[in-house]
Amino acid sequence: MEASILQPQFAAKIADLYNRMEKAYDIVARQLDFTCQGCPDNCCDSYFLHHTYVEWAYLWVGIGALSAERRKALENRAADYAAACEAALARDERPQVMCPLNEEGRCCLYEHRLMICRMHGVPSSLTFPNGQAKKFPGCFRCQEIVGSRQATPAVERAPLFRELVALEQELLGEQQGHMPKVKKTIADMILMGAPRL
Ligand code: SF4
Ligand code: SF4
Repeated sequence: MEASILQPQFAAKIADLYNRMEKAYDIVARQLDFTCQGCPDNCCDSYFLHHTYVEWAYLWVGIGALSAERRKALENRAADYAAACEAALARDERPQVMCPLNEEGRCCLYEHRLMICRMHGVPSSLTFPNGQAKKFPGCFRCQEIVGSRQATPAVERAPLFRELVALEQELLGEQQGHMPKVKKTIADMILMGAPRL
């Protein structure tokens, strides 16, 4: 088992933030009467890059607790994923490859899945300090439910995102600004091991 770089108390803060993201999502999902049940798609093949050490480290709290056998299988899937993405990007295409953490349609590290996984599905927005907002319409199925409604509930990402940034600052401390920027797929994070801080 790989030692986590996160102290349990710090990991608990991330878990708490992740829980609140989930609650914010659930409130909107309930208001829209939206669930993933019966979805013909599985959006875990969406291509996303992740940008924080804190999420990378917390993902490794989950990976580190897996058996050696499951971890090996995960690393193999991550290597396949990385090769498929590289091939798609070389063709100038946006990769569409199933996430290596997805096992038989389910996330095998559900408690450790990243912020973007917790936000994808229902409509959301990100309001900037200047008042401008970026809108995210939700997945195709949620967009069908929302249809042409004028006013729809949405998760506001900004306060949650600010908390994540604060945790990133707390984790990096004086190293902030001296560490390489994170721009990684989940497969990259698996293949590189836990971040070294
Ligand atoms: S978020 Fe949307 S696309 Fe993804 S599994 Fe749920 S219903 Fe399907
Ligand atoms: S981390 Fe889990 S929820 Fe997120 S894309 Fe991968 S399998 Fe899906």
